[in-house]
Amino acid sequence: MALTGIQIYKLLPQTNCKECGYPTCLAFAMKLSAKQVELSACPYVTPEAKTQLAESAAPPIRLVALKSDGYEAKAGNEVVLFRHEKTFYNKPGLFIRIYDSQPAETIKALVTEANAYAVNYVGMDLTVDGFAVASSSGDPNAFTTAVQAVRSASKRPVILMTRDVAVARAGVKALQAETPLIYGADAKNWEGFADLAKESKAALGIIAGSLAEMAELTDKIKAKGVEDLVIDPGGRDLGAGLAIGTTVRRLAIKKNFRALGFPVITFPGEVGDPGLEAVHAAQAITKYAGFIVLDHFNPSTIYPLLVLRQNIYTDPQKPIQVQPGIYEINAPKPEDPVLVTTNFSITYFSVANEVEGSGLPAWLLVTDAEGMSVLTAWAAGKFDAERIAKAVKGFNVADKVSRKRIVLPGHVAVLSGELEGELPDWEIRVGPREAVDLPAFMKHAL
Ligand code: SF4
Repeated sequence: MALTGIQIYKLLPQTNCKECGYPTCLAFAMKLSAKQVELSACPYVTPEAKTQLAESAAPPIRLVALKSDGYEAKAGNEVVLFRHEKTFYNKPGLFIRIYDSQPAETIKALVTEANAYAVNYVGMDLTVDGFAVASSSGDPNAFTTAVQAVRSASKRPVILMTRDVAVARAGVKALQAETPLIYGADAKNWEGFADLAKESKAALGIIAGSLAEMAELTDKIKAKGVEDLVIDPGGRDLGAGLAIGTTVRRLAIKKNFRALGFPVITFPGEVGDPGLEAVHAAQAITKYAGFIVLDHFNPSTIYPLLVLRQNIYTDPQKPIQVQPGIYEINAPKPEDPVLVTTNFSITYFSVANEVEGSGLPAWLLVTDAEGMSVLTAWAAGKFDAERIAKAVKGFNVADKVSRKRIVLPGHVAVLSGELEGELPDWEIRVGPREAVDLPAFMKHAL
């Protein structure tokens, strides 16, 4: 049973030293009981208290990491039901499934294409996380060949899919020194799979027909010493998938029900309609998958899934920022204009992409607006003439240009008079309101 805030408080030092960031030990205890802080934030907990608090301190959903040479796909460690309550931490891994009945050359070609795919989104490269090898042949040798074909084309983590422990063992052997997910153990075969997962230190996927059966199985497998579990509680259609995913997350987070406190694996392609696969995968990203195995790799559906996942797993309380500074776009020369914007990533990339795409050279001055967009920052007093002038001086922009010309975003045209006062030897121009209109403005109005 999880401890209450008062029970936790009794185990804390009760000195109210504030080093954890909270004004009192009681406030910290309440946050710990709500899983909103880590126990490690208090440096003064005694080892005895740590042992007693371990249950309360452990995340309600176990962190499971699949590892390979230089790559890791982590799921779990979540502490809230809704992203706005805090944040979601570990993005669900997106895996592409191949079958051991496919020719090795076909597997290699498919894996090579999916492995090379990357979306550059606000400065981050988004990619798939790995590959699932499914045994349709039932033959350990064919499974080994398929795993080796995947490994020859990608180093990303692997999920081994079979209900036959001998086949799974062959797959594990082909992935020495890695931590794959072995999927899967069920009510009939679980003992052999638990032994294999324990000796190979792999994570173990469990398949059950109901949540009650799943809870029973995870308890039995944990008792065998295997802790890194991933659960497949079924629910292949949209309604059932949503209901089961939400129930598992609620039980784990609200009731601290440890028997279901594991990442969930889903198979959106199994709905039978390839056109619906992306819809199911999108639902799984939001509610509440840990690993998602897709049956089709197609950039037109992977792209929105990667971006959706990135947005859902971005801390809503922290804007994504770029480093303030002076950026060069299309190799600008001293006579080229200085465009100014804020350091909110989406704003920066909107401006930078438009200018870059136009082929026109410019200097892009990114001011520190605490990660806010132009209008929000202006309204909050974080993007004004004084700050822009400070950035011009701080980043020595005048040393880079021969013609001192600065272009303000159209939304803050109101700053132009003040900026003239701050930068008297600069020509202040007002640009368009939208980034998309910048190329035409630069071509015809500058
Ligand atoms: Fe109490 Fe520990 Fe926080 Fe200090 S750091 S106030 S001892 S909980």
